[in-house]
Amino acid sequence: MKHYSLRTMISIGFALIVLAVVFLISIASNILISRQFEKYVLEQQDKKAEEMAQNLVFQYDNAAGEWNLDYIHGLGMYALNEGYIIKLYDADENILWDAENHDMTLCHQMMDTISLRMKENRPGLDGDFVIHRFILNQEDQIIGILDVSHYSPYYLNEDDFRFLSALNRILFAVGIISLTGAVLAGLLLANSISRPIARTVEVTKEISEGNYHADFQKKVRTKELLELTQSVDQMAAALEEQENLQKRLTSDVAHELRTPLANVSSWLEAILEGVWEPTQERLQSCYEELNRLTGLVSDLERLRQAENENLKLQKEETDLFKLAQSVIDCFEAQLTEKRLCCTAEGVHAAACVDPNRMKQVISNLLSNAVKYSNEGGSVRCVIDRTKDAVILRVEDDGIGIAEKDLERIFERFYRADRSRSRRTGGAGIGLTIVKTIVQAHGGRVTAESREGHGSCFTITLPEK
Ligand code: ADP
Repeated sequence: MKHYSLRTMISIGFALIVLAVVFLISIASNILISRQFEKYVLEQQDKKAEEMAQNLVFQYDNAAGEWNLDYIHGLGMYALNEGYIIKLYDADENILWDAENHDMTLCHQMMDTISLRMKENRPGLDGDFVIHRFILNQEDQIIGILDVSHYSPYYLNEDDFRFLSALNRILFAVGIISLTGAVLAGLLLANSISRPIARTVEVTKEISEGNYHADFQKKVRTKELLELTQSVDQMAAALEEQENLQKRLTSDVAHELRTPLANVSSWLEAILEGVWEPTQERLQSCYEELNRLTGLVSDLERLRQAENENLKLQKEETDLFKLAQSVIDCFEAQLTEKRLCCTAEGVHAAACVDPNRMKQVISNLLSNAVKYSNEGGSVRCVIDRTKDAVILRVEDDGIGIAEKDLERIFERFYRADRSRSRRTGGAGIGLTIVKTIVQAHGGRVTAESREGHGSCFTITLPEK
């Protein structure tokens, strides 16, 4: 299938519409004007015949009972030139003056010219010469009879036809001028629409080649096109963000994997080369490093799930108090091991959340609280409710977080104290998962802490 440019389509469409409109207007106005003109001519012709009859009445001398034949002759000749053949009779129908008798050749010549002209120019009119009879009265007394014969229903002379063809030429010229104007306007319109679209196509190509900062160069005036360019800009920004995220993730993961892998491989190398004795302790270290790697991989898997499943949360009305209690129950062994006291407090507030995802959130926060608490400490899980939100706080009286770290702990792979979290087995992903899930629910998470005194993580969730 052949594809045409938007510019061509709009220009041709515009020109065709204007062509049709101009054509219809020309035809309609031509028909209307001709009709009006013919009606006018017809009325004028009847009026003229009547005027002649009226004028003739004054040419009769009632006292003498005589007609002014000189005037009648002059009027008859004038009328003949205008296309009227007149005959005047006295009251007893005796002929007084007859144009045909007077100049037979001229009369026939005139009749032939008019008939021929009308048949040529108005073939459908089917006209002929007809006689109109006027009874001439003076003081209620019949003084004569006038027969006026003219081409009926109407006839047009040379000047009339010249006027009509001049009118047609004007209409034609107006049509051509409007058509040219329309084609030019169409081209301008087509340009103003197609240029930004063509530029958008170029920009999207540049984006697909990795140039996320391609510029649209010119501002567009059309609302929809402006929205189109804006959404392409937003798409480019989102793609760039996604690409950066991917790059960061790859380098973060590589960075996280490098140290334990290097450690394990150098230790194994030393053992293989006989430099190191494969003691229980050394093999234990290798085992721990490998365990950490396995933990890291499963953390990454969980993060991927949290990020991917943002869109498919299975929300349901959930009692957060009960949910927190069930998570605390799962931590029983670890709590006992560290001799920690952990309680769920507050109200039975319900929120519309995905219970499994929310369990993961509470579990990550509790796991941190347990990891970073001193033996014999206490952890509290408090559920509260405000006007339109449900609040969940996980508080501990553990080692706390330094102020400089506090704003970064939600970043991926961020650990406040690397050597310390290595010991505790964290990879710096737990809080990233918490934040991702909470944000997917339309909520937010904040942290407060005083180093050495404990930390408090607050989650605010919308009720609906
Ligand atoms: P990790 O797996 O290392 O615990 P997180 O993302 O869960 O990763 O936490 C990031 C960092 O925030 C941790 O390394 C730790 O330094 C700090 N942190 C998180 N929770 C607490 C807490 N309750 N008390 C003290 N420090 C914490």
